[in-house]
Amino acid sequence: MKDTLKKSEGEWKKLLTNDQFIVLRQKGTEAPFTGKYHANKEKGVYLCAACRQELFSSDTKFDSGTGWPSFFKPISEEKVTRKEDNSHLMERTEVLCSRCGSHLGHVFNDGPAPTGERFCMNSISLEFKKAE
Ligand code: FE
Repeated sequence: MKDTLKKSEGEWKKLLTNDQFIVLRQKGTEAPFTGKYHANKEKGVYLCAACRQELFSSDTKFDSGTGWPSFFKPISEEKVTRKEDNSHLMERTEVLCSRCGSHLGHVFNDGPAPTGERFCMNSISLEFKKAE
């Protein structure tokens, strides 16, 4: 059975900071180079900031130069939901946490080997757990 977590937007509003709520629940985008993780090179795992599901490993992180933390793949494809997004006059693929449905960022087809994908994530949507 798929692990899902459902909460009302009112509940999320209480659990998250205002800035987190705008990105995670209202699909906002943080300004580039302003987040905590684009330059983070420590070993560890990135969790969903809303529900703490494990999403990305530092082993798949690369420096995209965009100012947002970037990964070439998730820990497993089941951890993320891909959704077509035609907002802002662009055709993009949105990436959501598969467990709680929170917005994480977008995925593009200009990433490095081995996948050729670039998961462009908001730092504020992630929580880094350093490896012990
Ligand atoms: Fe989540």
